[in-house]
This record gives sequence, structure tokens and C-alpha cells, in this order.
Amino acid sequence: MKSSEIRATFLEYFKSTGHKIFQSSPLIPWNDPTLLFVNAGMVRFKTIFLGEEKSPYKRAVSCQKCIRAGGKHSDLENVGHTARHHTFFEMLGNFSFGDYFKKDAILFSWKLLTEWFKLPEEKLYVSVYEKDDEAAKLWSELTGLPDERIARLGAKDNFWQMGDTGPCGPCSEIIIDQGRDIGCGKPECAVGCECDRFLELWNLVFMQFNRDKNGELTPLPKPSIDTGMGIERISATLQGKTSNFDSDLFEPIIKDISSLLNVKYGSLHETDVSIRVIADHIRATIFLLSEGLVPSNEGRGYVLRRIIRRAARHAKLLNMHDASLYRLTDSVNRVMGSIYPEIIGERARTEKLLKIEEENFHRTIDAGMNRLDEIIANVHKEGSKIIPGDEVFRLYDTFGFPYDFAKDIAMDAGLKIDEDTFRKEMELQRERSKVIIGKGKSSIEFDTFGEALAGTIFEGYKSLKVEANVIDILKNGNHVDYLKQGEEGKIILNRTSFYGESGGQVGDIGIIESEGAYAKVLDTKKPSPFIYMHIVKIDKGTITKGDKVTCVVDETSRKATMRNHTATHLLHKALRIVLGDHVKQSGSVVSPERLRFDFTHFHAVQDDQIKGIEDIINEKILEDLPVRTDIMNIEEATRSGAIALFDEKYGETVRVVSVGDFSKELCGGTHCKATGEIGICMVLSEGSVASGIRRIEALTGRNALEYLRSKKQELNEIKGLLKTESPAEKIEKLIQDTKSLEKEIQKLKTGSSRDMISEALKEAHEFDGVKVVKIRQDGLNPTELRLLADNIKERLKSGIIVVSSVTDSQAAIVCMVTKDLKDRYNAGEIVKNISIIAGGKGGGKSEMAQGGTKDIEKLDNALEALYDIIKQVKS
Ligand code: ATP
Ligand code: MG
Repeated sequence: MKSSEIRATFLEYFKSTGHKIFQSSPLIPWNDPTLLFVNAGMVRFKTIFLGEEKSPYKRAVSCQKCIRAGGKHSDLENVGHTARHHTFFEMLGNFSFGDYFKKDAILFSWKLLTEWFKLPEEKLYVSVYEKDDEAAKLWSELTGLPDERIARLGAKDNFWQMGDTGPCGPCSEIIIDQGRDIGCGKPECAVGCECDRFLELWNLVFMQFNRDKNGELTPLPKPSIDTGMGIERISATLQGKTSNFDSDLFEPIIKDISSLLNVKYGSLHETDVSIRVIADHIRATIFLLSEGLVPSNEGRGYVLRRIIRRAARHAKLLNMHDASLYRLTDSVNRVMGSIYPEIIGERARTEKLLKIEEENFHRTIDAGMNRLDEIIANVHKEGSKIIPGDEVFRLYDTFGFPYDFAKDIAMDAGLKIDEDTFRKEMELQRERSKVIIGKGKSSIEFDTFGEALAGTIFEGYKSLKVEANVIDILKNGNHVDYLKQGEEGKIILNRTSFYGESGGQVGDIGIIESEGAYAKVLDTKKPSPFIYMHIVKIDKGTITKGDKVTCVVDETSRKATMRNHTATHLLHKALRIVLGDHVKQSGSVVSPERLRFDFTHFHAVQDDQIKGIEDIINEKILEDLPVRTDIMNIEEATRSGAIALFDEKYGETVRVVSVGDFSKELCGGTHCKATGEIGICMVLSEGSVASGIRRIEALTGRNALEYLRSKKQELNEIKGLLKTESPAEKIEKLIQDTKSLEKEIQKLKTGSSRDMISEALKEAHEFDGVKVVKIRQDGLNPTELRLLADNIKERLKSGIIVVSSVTDSQAAIVCMVTKDLKDRYNAGEIVKNISIIAGGKGGGKSEMAQGGTKDIEKLDNALEALYDIIKQVKS
């Protein structure tokens, strides 16, 4: 059975049993900074399982894109070495939200595997949690599995939990015995062994309890089901293969890798490992890039960078020393593109970014290699045999230089690496990379609220002023009952009109008032989607828990923010029109002062393109397009063509902001009612933030007006100073004038020496039939000095000229020898000798030479010696 049929059969089978089909959500989780990537089908339903969101459906089924690399559940290092682990894979799963439980879950899975997929029953095993007698009994009764094929395993393998607290429960896995020939071959090999023989196909999680802060388990009133089966594993099994990499999801890609790198798959173990790593990592890379992620040095981008570098390293092991993996984009697209059209849509951008990243990697390797040579030389010098582990780690950390490479090179040099230290440093690094964007102190504080808090209702889309009750107060991170005059803290209300910082839009400012008290709101944060935290300073009176208060958002600042936010949507669309569809938002800040928009693009945006972008935006402002917001199902929104940004949405229902028919984006921000309110939009600057990412900053409304006015003011000042209405012309003329004045001055300076020249010519010293002219004329720069010497030479016809000048406490000396004498006297020698006597330096050719000194006191003495010098240097 082809994997495409397996996928379709799975979805259809569960649809026929009342499950609603959900399309895969993106790999980058929605509004969940605590999770690097979606790593299971249940992630998108987390809010429903947690009871934070009600689902209109009781049963769901999906085929979900997953990544298990980086963070807690990483399979990155397994890839290539087992036949069943990937960084990117698809998880087939069925879900019950408080509807059916263990019995049906078991029946559904068994029936699908044995009746629809026709797996041989005698090869199937299941595992259950050791204390879950109920599940063991159900398996035995419902499927007739003999007891010896129902393994009871401990909590490590068969008890699942979402986090330290919250829903959890036992799980049960369906396993297929792939035969003695597969796997470790140890006599004790059995279900639960780490090797590939007993292959886990499907995991059924019975969400049965809630774990509280003390670790206490209480039964959930409505238990739920969450299951997951990797499509690569079931495909391989149904295609009679014992490795995922031999399934039809990988086979064509592996073929293309073999021909691209000119290596054979299936002949040499090391080569096969490298080919499998590349095949796996290229899929993960293409899917992550297609969602707008960019390789970087932190959080998710860092994991992507590691995946790409690991693949490039294996390509290098197979003798590919240039960027090449990007050429596999089409190969992956052919296998996966019909199911995931987003990878086709992003093809050009993916290829470009991957190529750049690969090139960076190869450059890095070369830089690292030099550094490693130095390290090795040092180790040899010290007579040691061990390369320090922290040095190798630094090599890895700064240059991305892979450990295995370093190890190979060390071996060639007869050395070993102190691996323990290296691993320790790596572990520290891993800890560091777990801290990802957005996970700050606020989310930790959120944990301490407990479940009692129902959350804040946000009413700030409609009104800027609402009545509310104070439901919690924090001071220095502790819950307190009140805040008094002069104190700062955080206030949580049951409802609010203050927008909490999210989606790039900054938090609102304003005031919170009660009878007798008055607090300034300095900022508003949203540590969770439901909690709005007002950061306040009490100016008057005391605000106490339970108080009735009025929230008043600062209208001027909020309206300015709204203008910038709506303009950001116009800018986003305009950029796609002018630059192309590869433009994707990669960050944005919307504040009352300005808007900042980061996006993917590979060149600087040209002036005429900026003008085009500004024109489109301002045209749309003039058209006064209405801005509409609709709440809809995520799938409906995606189908309607709304641009979805990762990190921006929450749950299954989303808010879609449309600007006329011009732009449509998923967005939780506050917007103008119509584009006319924006007034005007001006691009302030354009620049680069990282490779492949540009940034535009722009102003709207009053700020744009203010900006234009200050420019006008500046221009007026310039006009005033220049006393003209056309300053550009005038400045051009002034520049011309300055140039000709400079020439004039030069002429005058050298010209005024004319008398002096005649004087000097008259006084020219003569010996051996050679005339020597010597002049000191201060205030000439070296060019002018040369001009002067030239003038003298012209009039002298034959002889030696030495001119000198002091300017800015430095003396310059120029000597010229006319052509007819150049075989007898050398200007270079003359200047060199004068300069030495004057305490300076000099030299040059036989006809012209220059020198100088800072010791101007000695200049005259040196010139005195001129005639002696000339006699000495005569050849
Ligand atoms: P394993 O022990 O084999 O690593 P797991 O216990 O981590 O599997 P679950 O977290 O229960 O797996 O995930 C559910 C299903 O998803 C598994 O039964 C398997 O079919 C599939 N799966 C899990 N991890 C991977 C992976 N890295 N690559 C491919 N498929 C996977
Ligand atoms: Mg695992």
C-alpha cells in the first residue's frame, strides 16, 4: 500500500466513525513559546484537553507534521542510526475530547491495523502501563491477544503527561515483531528494547487523571483519548520493509541523493548512515524553511541551523565540499508536495536560503580548520597527546566546526580529544538553547496563579474605557492584597480595555481609577493568552483586591498604534506586490511612535522600489478602505487566503483582519476602522538585519507629519542660509566655486613666489658648472611645493633645485635635478641626506624626490649643508 493511500485510508476510516478531519497545523506552534516545534498530533488540541477552550467536535483525526529535534524530545542524534527515527515525520492520530475512551480506542486501532491494513495478528504485541489492569483486560477480551503478547511496562515507557501538572494517564503501544534478524539479536531482546526488532507503531494515550501541584492524581470527569502513529513506520511495515528509509516516502529521495553525491546506498555502513541523515534532514529543513523560519543562533532558528549543518557535514564526509543539498528541494517536493503545497510555494526561497546556509557552513569549516591546526601545534609543543575538550567545543561553538571532523583530524595527528569536557560543554549549550524567544519571567509568574483565576476578558477592541474588578495584585513577584500610593506593581482585572503586548504590538498605557485612588498604567503584558497584567504605579490612594475600578486607555497613544498596525498590514501586502511572494514577515514591532517590519528578501530594496511601496500604501490610504475583523475557524481562514504568521494565533478559532479586498491576515491586534485614519505613511529607513532578512521602518499619521515638517524646516533653514529658493542648484554652484577658488589660491601662492624665484635664480650658487637654487617658502603644502619646484626648473633650464616649506609644524622638502644632469646627481640621494640631517626621512628618483621632518628647528641647518651634500653625492 502506498503511503498516500495509507494516509487517506487512516483519515477516511476515522471520518467514517464520526471523527472530524483536521489539516495539519504548522510545525511552528501557535503562541506557545514554551515549545520549540509541534512534536505530536495533540499539540494543536492542547487548549481543548486543558479545558481552556471548548471544542464543537467530540472526535477528531489528523495527519500532523512533527519535528523532534532540539529541546526535550529530540531524536536528532538517533537519526541515521536507527531505522525508525526522524527529525521530521508525520503523525497519524485520532482524538476523543471527553467522548469515547479505552475500549473504543483499542477497538478502532485494532480493527484498522488487522482488518483494513491486514497486518498479521500473530506478529502484533501491545504494551500497557504496569498498573493499568483495565487496559490489559480490554486488549485480551476485545482482540484475543494472548497474555504473553501483552507486556506490562513501567511509568517511563507507558505513562504519559503533558507537563508537571495537568492531564495525564497511562498509555498503550501497539508493536510489531520484525523478526530475529532485525535488531540487537541479544537473547533478552523483548518489547521495550531500544533496538529496531520490536517496532512501536502506534501509541494510544488514555488521558485519565489530572495531576495537581503536589503530584496528587485525581480522575478527570471526562477522560480523553490522544493517539499517534508515525506514517513512515506503518508505511515501511505495509510495504514489507523493515526500515522507514526503504518506504516510498524515502526511497526516491535516497535515490536522488545517491546520484547527486555519486555514492551507492546499501553497500557500506558509514555511507548509508550519512545518506540516511541527509535524506531525513533535508525533509526537516525544507518544511521548516517553508514556514518562514530562518537559520540563526538562537531558539528555533538555531535548531534549524544544526539540522542543516549536520546534513552538510555528512555530505562532506561523502566528499561533497560545496553547497549541494539545496539541489534536493525538488526531490522532496515531488514526494511531499501534493500533500503539503506550502513547500512547493516556497521552493525558490527555500533553495536560496539553504544554499546560503550551506555556503556559510563550508566557509566556516575552512576557518575552523586553521584554528584546529594551531591547537594541534600547541598540543605537540607541550608534548601532550590530548586536545582539550573546551577548545574543541569553542571551535564548534564559534565556527560550527563539527566534533567528528575534529576527531578525524586529531586521529591523523596521533592525538585524542578530551571528550568528557567537550560533552559537558555541549550539555551546558543544550541547556542554553532551551531558553527560547518570548519565554520570560512573566510566564513563570503565570504558573503561580493556579486554576482559580478565570482570566481577563479583553474589551479593548470596542472601547477604550471599561469598568472592572481587581482580581489579583502582584508586588515584586508576590501576591499581595493592595498597592498604596507611590508603590509599583501588577494589577490583574476580570476585564480590561488595555491591549496586552502581543503579535508585535506594544501594550497600552493609560490610567486605572477607583474611588479615591489613581494608578498610572505604564505597560500591559500578556503572560498567557488569558491573563492581562497591568504594570502600574499608584499616584494617589490605595488599590485593593476586589476594588471596582475604571480602566481608561490613553487614546492618543492607542490611536497612533492602531494607525501603525493597519499600515503594517498595508506594507506587508505592498512588499509582496513590489518585491514578490517570497516576502514573509519575520518580525514586527508596532508602537505609537513607529512601525518596524522585518521580512525575508535577498537584496537591498532599491529607492524606486521604496517609492513604489510608499505609493501603493498611500493610494490605499486615500481609498479609505474599510477594515474588518472576523472570527473564524482556522481552516476557513487559511482557505480564504489569509496570511498566517507563526507565533501569532491561538486555538482553533482565529481573528482575521481584512483591509478592503487588499489584505487579509490573521491578527489579534487593534486596527483603524478605515485606512483613511492612517493619514499618511512614510518609509523612514531600509536595511539588513541578518542574511536574507531586511528591515523597514515607517511612520504614519502625526508622526509622519511631524517628520515631514522637520524636513521642511531643515530645508527652510538651508534656503535661508543660502538665500535662495533652489538650494540644490546653489549648492552645486558653491561646490564648483570652491574648486576654482582652491585652484586660484594655488596659483596665487606659487605665483607670489615669482619674485622670490627671480631673486633665488639670481643668487643661485654655481660650482662645477652646475647651478643650485635653494628656497624656503613656508605655508605651502606638498603639491604646491612641487609646483613651485617645477616653475623654478622651467626657468632654470639646467641645474639642481631644492625647495622647502613648513606647514602645521612639519617641514617638507622637494628636490629636482634637470634631465641633463641626472646621471651625475641623484635627487633621491640629495633629499635623503638633507632629511637625515634634519632628523627626518626622504628619498625618491634621480630627477625628483621628496622628504620631510617634524624637527623643523633643524631644517635650516640641514639646508646649510646642501652644497657639501651635493658634492658628496656626485657620482
Ligand atoms: P520511540 O520510543 O520509538 O522513540 P516514542 O515513544 O517516542 O517512540 P510517541 O511519543 O509515543 O513515540 O509517538 C507516537 C508515535 O509517533 C510512535 O508510536 C511512532 O510511530 C511515531 N514516532 C515517534 N517518534 C518518531 C520519530 N522520531 N520518527 C518517526 N516516527 C516517530
Ligand atoms: Mg521517542
